[in-house]
Amino acid sequence: MGNSGNTPVKAIENIEILRESVPLRPEEEAWLRSGKENPGLPLRITPHYLKLMKKDLSGALRRMAIPRGEEWTVLDYETPDPLHEEPYEVVHRCIHRYRDRVLVLLTDACALYCRYCFRRRFTGENRGVLGDEEIRAVKDYLESHPEVREVILSGGDPLMLPDRKLDSIIGILGNAGSVRSLRLSSRIPVVLPSRITAALAGILSSGPRVWQVIHINHPAEISPEFLAAVDLLAKRGIPMLSQSVLLKGVNDDPEILAKLFRGLVAAGVKPYYLFQGDLAPGTSHLRVPLSRGLSIFRELSSMVSGLALPAYAVDLPGGGGKVRLGAEAIAGLHDGEYHIRSIDGRIFRYPEEPV
Ligand SMILES: *Cc1c(COP(=O)(O)O)cnc(C)c1O
Ligand code: SF4
Repeated sequence: MGNSGNTPVKAIENIEILRESVPLRPEEEAWLRSGKENPGLPLRITPHYLKLMKKDLSGALRRMAIPRGEEWTVLDYETPDPLHEEPYEVVHRCIHRYRDRVLVLLTDACALYCRYCFRRRFTGENRGVLGDEEIRAVKDYLESHPEVREVILSGGDPLMLPDRKLDSIIGILGNAGSVRSLRLSSRIPVVLPSRITAALAGILSSGPRVWQVIHINHPAEISPEFLAAVDLLAKRGIPMLSQSVLLKGVNDDPEILAKLFRGLVAAGVKPYYLFQGDLAPGTSHLRVPLSRGLSIFRELSSMVSGLALPAYAVDLPGGGGKVRLGAEAIAGLHDGEYHIRSIDGRIFRYPEEPV
């Protein structure tokens, strides 16, 4: 099995080799010295990201990519499936959680393994790419569920698939049942921008409508190579969104987020989601307390344009699903008038019209 079906990626997967390129800090060495049999989420860093990491003096990028001893600390409210996806797996690796869209896990491999990965129960286990039979089963499901209008290609990282396979899957799932568009969620434009070729842009722009969703967390990830990759997609008219995770010691600062989101808007990418960290095992050192997340988001909201502002969302533990936070402006309804909080915190009134 091994890497079966994924495009081979040149990456650092061994801590000894990593140590030759970057001196490791004691807290990173501690991951190794745990003596645990199961390595958890594997180590994998692309040469491109290594280069960015070395340039980034803040240490934010290495927190996302180099494992630390803290990963072995699992809190009692952390769970292997924090998004509660397993009960909604209607067909092998196809999650139907919300009425009009499904999410398909095309592969469990990624070009770089993010240390905060919320799907680590699945990611990096060498399960390989979804086979033709399994794709057909998803297609059959879509044909018998006309309420589904959108397919989200996820994983792992769906851009790990070779062009031909991806092209075929987009063609099959993008035209099944009532589906009219696909979303392709990937971190590859950030960690392996050379994967974004003219041939790939051709595939993403020639069949059913594909929305590219880019997983990006820090302004230092906006490299010249990233910008060139995004430009290639933009020139082909591929609509682009971003999603980010709020991470402690990485981007838990309104200034850093503002810089990231403004940079994305300038590149033609609309910031879509900023996620509160999920309660995945061994990720508490990277999570931001919710109260702090709310205050960061409030401050960010007053700094950037509506175009640059993503929705701040949390996936509620215990299967509550995705919920948008921090935008609540309604302070109450009193004597037929809504009291609504303005961006600077003052209360204004808006009359409730008679029906
Ligand atoms: C997040 C998510 C979606 C997409 O939700 P949107 O709010 O439309 O972006 C779909 N399915 C699953 C299982 C998800 O977790
Ligand atoms: S790219 Fe996504 S699936 Fe892959 S390791 Fe990062 S968070 Fe997990």
